Amino acid sequence: MSEKYDVVVIGAGPAGYVASIKAAQLGFKTACVEQWLDEKGKVQLGGTCLNVGCIPSKALLDSSHKYAEARDGLEIHGISVKKPTIDVPLMLARKQTIVDQLTGGIAGLFKHNGVTAISGKGKVLVGAKVEVTNAAGEVMEIEADKIIVAAGSLPVNIPPAPIDNEYIIDSTGALELTDVPGRLGVIGAGVIGLELGSVWRRLGSEVVMLEALDTFLPMMDIQIAKETGKILKKQGLDIRLGARVTKAEVKKGKVEVTYSTAEGEHTESFDKLIVAVGRKPHSEGLFATDSGLTLDERGYIYVNEYCETEAPNVYAVGDVVRGPMLAHKGSEEGVMVVERIAGKQAQMNYDCIPSVIYTHPEIAAVGKTEQELKADGVEYKIGVFPFAASGRALAANDSEGMVKLIAHAETDRILGCHIVGPSAADLVQQVVIAMEFGSSAEDLALTVFSHPALSEAVHEAALAVDGQAIHIANRKKR
Ligand code: FAD
Ligand code: NAD
Repeated sequence: MSEKYDVVVIGAGPAGYVASIKAAQLGFKTACVEQWLDEKGKVQLGGTCLNVGCIPSKALLDSSHKYAEARDGLEIHGISVKKPTIDVPLMLARKQTIVDQLTGGIAGLFKHNGVTAISGKGKVLVGAKVEVTNAAGEVMEIEADKIIVAAGSLPVNIPPAPIDNEYIIDSTGALELTDVPGRLGVIGAGVIGLELGSVWRRLGSEVVMLEALDTFLPMMDIQIAKETGKILKKQGLDIRLGARVTKAEVKKGKVEVTYSTAEGEHTESFDKLIVAVGRKPHSEGLFATDSGLTLDERGYIYVNEYCETEAPNVYAVGDVVRGPMLAHKGSEEGVMVVERIAGKQAQMNYDCIPSVIYTHPEIAAVGKTEQELKADGVEYKIGVFPFAASGRALAANDSEGMVKLIAHAETDRILGCHIVGPSAADLVQQVVIAMEFGSSAEDLALTVFSHPALSEAVHEAALAVDGQAIHIANRKKR
């Protein structure tokens, strides 16, 4: 007889492991099926985020930022240091220690909460059963009252630049380079391209980014994207828009890339080429054809607003379903699903999911952009505050960028916030909380902020919505 669980989760990334822990906390007998193995053949928890995504990329961003600061950013403080050197293998080892610590931490949390980790590839069968095939090819079936699919996503490959894991690499390969490439090509100036391009640029690579679109960061607020473009260009990221790669060939230890723009065809030679053109849902081979699950036109598992699939008692969360591919979005969906299984009235507020690009300075956003509001015909007002007028930012010699707050023209309700600047990830969270409580810009303006703090820029942007900021010239006649 196969083992029976209340809840079986497929995938132990941030969507799946959080759902598993939450389910166990709520008293459900829970198993989590994961196919990722460590080098010793043991099940590896944490998914893309902990193993090859959010965490290792941020570890390298932090290391490379410190190196760049030591090289370029200390003299102004009156500090002189010997020319710094970088030991890339040591930097990678530090990154791996953090990954191991966190993935091991999930294993500990599973144990503490009584979640059973099952090693193998899971497949949803009809009648809320899961077939698990382990690395040795052995197949077993487990029964569940409820199944949560959290199988995540995979990098998109493009035919002109097939990954060879040596010269032409994806984001995982870009986290493992043991030497700083002299010339680094990046296809795609999106989130991964900008973050990993920044890492290697800071360490000394000449970085050329080839972006197919004519617009830089089109999903970002147009003013913030423009400001970001200027800042990153100053840092030496050579971002070429409207560039379509047609061929990438390895020749004599170099990658020769051919691409076309409105001006014609061009060729560039690189030591390494990162392909970062998006990610796709990991939905292939995940369910039997008679299981009742369906895919939408883009290959995502079809779900409604509560992450219910078309098969009874089967839910899907995280990157494998529609919505932004962000770790926190998947985790919150996992929690919502489990709470609903437990009979609570949980729901997600998809209008209030923050997103961040961890360049320096960071770029962070929540809610509507100005161009979206314009397109929707919504009347709005804007408050902008530059970090150049923030005492704390100047004290830190980190004063590039701005906070932009958008509020409804009549109700004053906050509709969006867009930041490029120091600690933007943490600053935007203050506005996320305000938006969750349905705050107006005036509510934020009436709040006391510590001085001197970067968050004063959020306060001043809220004041500026009504022309009342103190530390910039914006006075509205009353
Ligand atoms: P995943 O993390 O992909 O986990 C899915 C898991 O399911 C995997 O462990 C996989 O092995 C397992 N699995 C798949 N199919 C099966 C099966 N059939 N049986 C058993 N197991 C299976 N997001 C952020 O919010 N912030 C960031 O800073 C950030 N940085 C990133 C940096 C990089 C380089 C990359 C690549 C991504 C980054 N992301 C970031 C995106 C983030 O990693 C994903 O949004 C997040 O990991 C999705 O979580 P998930 O649980 O849905 O899927
Ligand atoms: P992306 O969608 O952010 O960027 C891909 C870029 O590649 C786009 O600008 C696109 O126009 C361009 N592109 C596509 N095909 C191309 C081609 N043939 N030639 C040139 N350019 C091309 O995707 P990504 O950077 O690969 O990231 C994947 C996902 O991972 C994102 O959805 C993101 O949400 C998530 N992620 C998040 C973070 C974060 O939250 N900080 C970090 C990394 C990744």
